[in-house]
Amino acid sequence: MAADPDCIFCKIVGGDIPGEVVRRTDTTVAFRDLNPAAPTHVLVVPVDHQANAAETAATSPATVADLVATAASVAEDEGLDGSYRLVFNTGAEAGQSVFHTHLHLLGGRPMTWPPG
Ligand code: 5GP
Ligand code: ZN
Repeated sequence: MAADPDCIFCKIVGGDIPGEVVRRTDTTVAFRDLNPAAPTHVLVVPVDHQANAAETAATSPATVADLVATAASVAEDEGLDGSYRLVFNTGAEAGQSVFHTHLHLLGGRPMTWPPG
């Protein structure tokens, strides 16, 4: 759907509040996480508002591929040497706190599995 006036990521996409944007495409915007969990922590979001990755997949499947492609381009720009983690938290219990689809790109330090 179009921008949600109450959504913080729609406001960053629209330039209504500041965000450290590192890449924009026709369908995606990538900006640095305010509270980084790794040396590189970038959020890649669709321009259009959907609540989570499954909703984006259902309404605009090509955009899911665009999110991953944008993340890969940013990872290359950041010098992550092909080694990084991509995460879609879905649902509050899984750690989702902003209900506008976002792909976390994390890298620049060793990472363990499974996550907490
Ligand atoms: P989630 O917990 O929903 O998977 O991820 C939301 C992320 O958004 C968190 O890592 C949080 O630090 C980040 N975040 C929340 N509000 C803002 C903001 O206003 N600007 C930016 N750049 N990041 C934000
Ligand atoms: Zn939104």
